[in-house]
Amino acid sequence: MNLSGINGTVKLNNGYEMPYLGLGVFLAHDGDEVMNAVQYALQSGYRHIDTAALYENEKGVGEGIRRSGVPREDIFVTSKVWNSDQGYDNTLRAFDDTMNKLGFEYLDLYLIHWPVKGKYIETWKAIETIYKEVRIKSIGVSNFLKHHIEDLNETAEVPPMVNQVEFHPYLVQQDLIDYCKSNQIVYEAWSPLMQGKMLEDKLIKRLAEKYSKTSAQIIVRWDLQKGVVTIPKSVKKERIISNADIFDFEISDDDMKLIDSLDRHERIGADPDNFDF
Ligand code: NDP
Repeated sequence: MNLSGINGTVKLNNGYEMPYLGLGVFLAHDGDEVMNAVQYALQSGYRHIDTAALYENEKGVGEGIRRSGVPREDIFVTSKVWNSDQGYDNTLRAFDDTMNKLGFEYLDLYLIHWPVKGKYIETWKAIETIYKEVRIKSIGVSNFLKHHIEDLNETAEVPPMVNQVEFHPYLVQQDLIDYCKSNQIVYEAWSPLMQGKMLEDKLIKRLAEKYSKTSAQIIVRWDLQKGVVTIPKSVKKERIISNADIFDFEISDDDMKLIDSLDRHERIGADPDNFDF
């Protein structure tokens, strides 16, 4: 990953460019809260917003984008099909619903939110259909482990371009990163700050002091130096700006390794092999 600045990109396996830094909006309320967050982000240079049908804020995301004045085609927007909407016909309907709420003609990235057993293969077929209609520019999965991807690829006509999974210094899953890399699947971090918990880590705090940066900035920079696309969430203007102010320093190789050594396979979210929603 060549880190050139806030709107630098990675190339997906279909040639489409994805900004490696985006704004997450999970738990941002629809209406003013999410609209403002999206506008703060776009006005400060972000070009990537990550939402989902589950978050119930797609309307506000679309409106925030229109109000920002930044042209739609300059912004990379992701949404996801929720578990109860999986299956072929349901996914086609869910996609239309997402597009109506966003008020868009096309989506940049559509993901299967979780690998729902017995459903995700059919869900993928529907997503491929929409992709072939060019209503989605790129397609991918979320919370897929290696065996889910292998299973999907047995029948997929279009292989996934992105896998969005929980990722922070306490949950690295280097095997999954390596597997995705060798299959041209971009690895994307959700809950990169572990929903705030990572900011309390002693080593992260010590490095923040050493580099005169915040703990959040150390973590976001670590994500990008590891080649992982990242979407820290905040609804607060100062945090949105500061979380992306990470292009004026570099974490040394030794300090990267120190952060890597925090890995303890600890999740804040569900295990993709064992979830009940
Ligand atoms: P994050 O790890 O991004 O942490 C967000 C939390 O950290 C919020 O409470 C936020 O509060 C706080 N925060 C943000 N910046 C700072 C800062 N600089 N200093 C102190 N606190 C800060 O958690 P998320 O779970 O939101 O993950 C990021 C995104 O990933 C989501 O928003 C969503 O888009 C996606 N996601 C995808 C999932 C999936 O299954 N595919 C699952 C979960 C998330 P505040 O807003 O008040 O600033």
